[in-house]
Amino acid sequence: MALSHRPSIRLRARGRVDVFDEPDPPALPLGRRITCRVCNAPGAAQDDAVLLCDVCRADVSAARAHCQYVLEACTARADAAGQAWLDAQAAADDAALGRLRKAEAAIAAGRDTDPVFVATWQREKAAGTPLGALLAAYEVYTTKMRLTATQRQQAARGLAELEQMEER
Ligand SMILES: [Zn+2]
Repeated sequence: MALSHRPSIRLRARGRVDVFDEPDPPALPLGRRITCRVCNAPGAAQDDAVLLCDVCRADVSAARAHCQYVLEACTARADAAGQAWLDAQAAADDAALGRLRKAEAAIAAGRDTDPVFVATWQREKAAGTPLGALLAAYEVYTTKMRLTATQRQQAARGLAELEQMEER
């Protein structure tokens, strides 16, 4: 046969076993993956379309307790972050506070991506001026608030899925 005389590279490669090949992953029951809304673990999609992994399905009360714990922890963290931000402002002098209010007004007006604004912000922080200290505290505050908002959202989604599962 003509083919056996001129085997293509592809044909030869097919028969060879590469020792560095990863083993095939195990087949999934329904072939579709979900991300658990409670614990973020990957799982197999189920017929009820509820987005929970097997572990969370197996112990609904523990999953609910986890979500509730996350919500409470987020509230505590947000409270602490808010208090730290208030404390930083209370410790600042009037001149720094006045400049901070101008920066806040610029942020509210959407001018915080302006190169001059960004450069001033970075310069004040790097120089460790009273305003720079406030800006650093503001960054810590907004970062923590954003993080807790994300975690709170995830916990709420988890609770919604648990509720949906119990309705079925
Ligand atoms: Zn889970």
